[in-house]
Amino acid sequence: MSNSTSILEDLLRAMPDLRPQIYFKSSLTALSHAMEDQVLAGTDRPVVIANFQRERFYRQEAHRYLRISERTDQVYVLAAPETDFANRSDRYETIAFDATDALTQEWHLIVVGPRYASCLLCRERQVVDSFTDFPVLHAPDQARRFEGIWTFDRPTVCKAAELLLDRILIYRPELRDKLAQAKSSVTSKRQSGFNNVDPGPFAERLVTYLQAGQYKLLKAYRSIAAQERKERLVNSITSAIRRSLNPHEIFNVAVQELGQALQASRCLVYRCKATDTSVMIQHEYLGEGVDSLVGQEWNLDINPLFQLAVQAQERMYVEDAQTDVWIVNDQEVVPRLPTSSNGTSLVNHWQIAAWLMVPVIHQNRLLGIVEVHHREGLYEWTDANLELIEAIATQIGVALIQAEAYANLEDLNQQLEALDRTRSNLIAITGHELRTPLSTIQICLESLASEPDMDLELRQVMLMSALSDAERMRKLIQDFLTLSQLESGRIEWHLEPLPIRECVDLALSSLRARQLHSELPEIITQVSSELPLIRTDGEWLVEVLSKLLDNACKFTEPTGQVTIQAHLNGRQMLEVTVSDTGRGIEPNRLETVFDRFYQEEGALRRSTGGTGLGLAICRQIVTGLGGRIWAESEGKDRGSQFHLTLPIIQGDLDGNAVKATKEKRKVSRVKG
Ligand code: ADP
Repeated sequence: MSNSTSILEDLLRAMPDLRPQIYFKSSLTALSHAMEDQVLAGTDRPVVIANFQRERFYRQEAHRYLRISERTDQVYVLAAPETDFANRSDRYETIAFDATDALTQEWHLIVVGPRYASCLLCRERQVVDSFTDFPVLHAPDQARRFEGIWTFDRPTVCKAAELLLDRILIYRPELRDKLAQAKSSVTSKRQSGFNNVDPGPFAERLVTYLQAGQYKLLKAYRSIAAQERKERLVNSITSAIRRSLNPHEIFNVAVQELGQALQASRCLVYRCKATDTSVMIQHEYLGEGVDSLVGQEWNLDINPLFQLAVQAQERMYVEDAQTDVWIVNDQEVVPRLPTSSNGTSLVNHWQIAAWLMVPVIHQNRLLGIVEVHHREGLYEWTDANLELIEAIATQIGVALIQAEAYANLEDLNQQLEALDRTRSNLIAITGHELRTPLSTIQICLESLASEPDMDLELRQVMLMSALSDAERMRKLIQDFLTLSQLESGRIEWHLEPLPIRECVDLALSSLRARQLHSELPEIITQVSSELPLIRTDGEWLVEVLSKLLDNACKFTEPTGQVTIQAHLNGRQMLEVTVSDTGRGIEPNRLETVFDRFYQEEGALRRSTGGTGLGLAICRQIVTGLGGRIWAESEGKDRGSQFHLTLPIIQGDLDGNAVKATKEKRKVSRVKG
């Protein structure tokens, strides 16, 4: 006989009428125990052969076989060794078969006595994954299934016993005589014996098995229900996240669902940073008879649970918060108990007997806290509940990050839209601004060309008109290029220590040179040469000052006044102000004047010339130099002031550096 053949197959071949059945592992255990109980309860001295497949299964039952060996000396126990199981003749015979033997796949128990015979002969069936159809390598015990025969039929039992005794002989040839004796005892009982089966052990075993099965089922139902509850909660919060990108809505759903599911007295969700000392409570679930915290300033820095949760980045709970020594996460902590500003204990004031804080973390950053309170002391935070709250905290984290990302996206979108609008406006305005002077030039030149007899005076007017519009176009193109260069951020600033007085003087002399033939208002300079040096790019700063002075003169009658002043603004900045007594600016236009192409008269009705780009250029330059520029005016015809700040050289507040450099320095590069 080959030891790779299955005993069950051999039996089925020998007795083709047998119909094998499927048994779960737990049924086989119940039946085996009942058969063994039968032996232990009787006086039969039967032949008992048990194959356990592997040593570990035998070890669980070894104590029963010691007791069985007290009833009969014909006991054979088979198993594939895993530690020290070996062929041995002790209180009973042990047979250690090869790991390749088909017996490793089979579960046998055969009892043949004069008054009682039964056998259980089964082969394990591979558990197949219902989704993939692949065999499951380490199936759970409850899922193990066997196929085979359980019977009291004597001829079948005896045939099975003979087959197994033959297999034992292969491994234990030295037991030839004992096995021959067992075989002849079995063979003789094939016809002669009778079955006086006591149904008691079987009924008892089967009821125990059913009870155990029922109990396991109940446990499984309970855990499925808990799982379902968790999934339902997490789903409702996930769908709230999908429905809305508004954290308030999500927090509301989360506190309500969680508070109800945990039957808490209070559940809070709030955003906070690790460094926050307090938060304002907005989202709360409230049980009956508990005071609301909504609108209250909730102190965090004095709360040991918050501190611990932030440090460890994990949930912290107390089962009894009323004691002086808190057991946080089952470890003793002596906290400085949280009290409100008037010194009353928060725990008593807000009826908190059990307290839990779960941090909402994303990439090690604290985003917020989920807090649960119970009124009853000694509340037990079960693993299932803790897991549930943590799962929800994770979802809340996702929601917050998503909302943050969305807000950023919204911002970016708005910026892009604004940029796009500006670009379109710019193209339209630039086109218009260039076309207007071009049309004038064209008309003038056409008239000059088509009317050679035009009188000299008109001819002169036409030429002057064409020339002035050509100049306007040149300025427009130049300003436009300057602004584009500044806006693109491609400017390299040449910062150096400069006295403001020098820059103001240069701007004034450039203004006078340009306005040589115009009547200018009186210009008053109040810029002390003792002021500290500024760190700036002289060329660009003179450009700004010239522009502001130009505007001040342009919008002020020659009878008016223009003043340029400079003084310290705090310890780090110098403020320069260009004020005039001219036409002033409406309060709602004080910011708009810095927009590109803004001109009070509108692009078509310009009386004062200019491109409408000057102040936009000034703002770009001053911002680039690390300062700020703004306009002030009390309204129409009440004059205007343009202020700009510039960083001073630190440590030069006493103005010494001015004196030292005054003689050496000259702003050499002044734009024309
Ligand atoms: P422009 O080339 O038209 O002067 P700016 O950008 O320098 O362009 O100025 C934009 C507009 O701001 C001017 O057209 C004018 O309406 C207003 N503005 C600028 N400076 C003054 C000022 N000192 N007084 C009154 N309005 C001013």
